[in-house]
Amino acid sequence: MSTTTTHNRPRSARTPTVGDGRCPVCASPAPGARGLCYCCRVLVAQLRLPLSPVVSMAEFGAGDPMHRWLRGYKDAPLPEARRACIVRLARMLRAFTTGEGIHFGGRSGAHSGPTGATWDILITVPSTTRPGAPPVGGVLTLVPELGPVGPLVLIPGPEPADHLRVCRESFLPAASVEAVRGRRALVVDDTYVTGARAQSASAALRLSGVEVVGILVLGLWRSGTVGGSEVRSEGGQGGSSVVR
Ligand SMILES: [Zn+2]
Repeated sequence: MSTTTTHNRPRSARTPTVGDGRCPVCASPAPGARGLCYCCRVLVAQLRLPLSPVVSMAEFGAGDPMHRWLRGYKDAPLPEARRACIVRLARMLRAFTTGEGIHFGGRSGAHSGPTGATWDILITVPSTTRPGAPPVGGVLTLVPELGPVGPLVLIPGPEPADHLRVCRESFLPAASVEAVRGRRALVVDDTYVTGARAQSASAALRLSGVEVVGILVLGLWRSGTVGGSEVRSEGGQGGSSVVR
């Protein structure tokens, strides 16, 4: 079995633990470190808030099938091609969700079973480049086991999040956030490269009174691939052409 194939299978919903060579927030490899990976250290310093734990359905690298599906589900020129990618991603997400379940926050003890017992709403991260509901919502509607998709409650702020650059105003709460204040939310995004977008969205929600139990992403940009390793280890911009 090729390495590419292995990486494109949904991976086990694991809870990272400190010291196992994985970042305790995003589960990216953090070789030799006993704490956060480089990206998470940068983000936590900028936000001055704890980061939300991340679970990824799969990892992906440049040009591999998962990368193509994550691009194609929103950017393929033909509707049929977009639909095929959406269906494929939804099938993977259902298998991932109903498999071992999705567990968050090993040290805090918070967790959820396959039915999403510890969150009651899904909140998607808005795109900073395209208006309206983010495309990942189209995948989520095909996986009802994960829970109901909430309204759009965030809007891009005056300082949009970019790779390794965030602030508390990268996203701002819309008036609709009132509808989810006090709810337990699972934040969902399609891709996670440095975490800047998803973590700043989570921070904005928490500052608005939403209880964020964690972040679920379809694809985690894999360290050790061209571009991704530059972003994740040295803070370069090599991943800027990744799915956005
Ligand atoms: Zn990390």
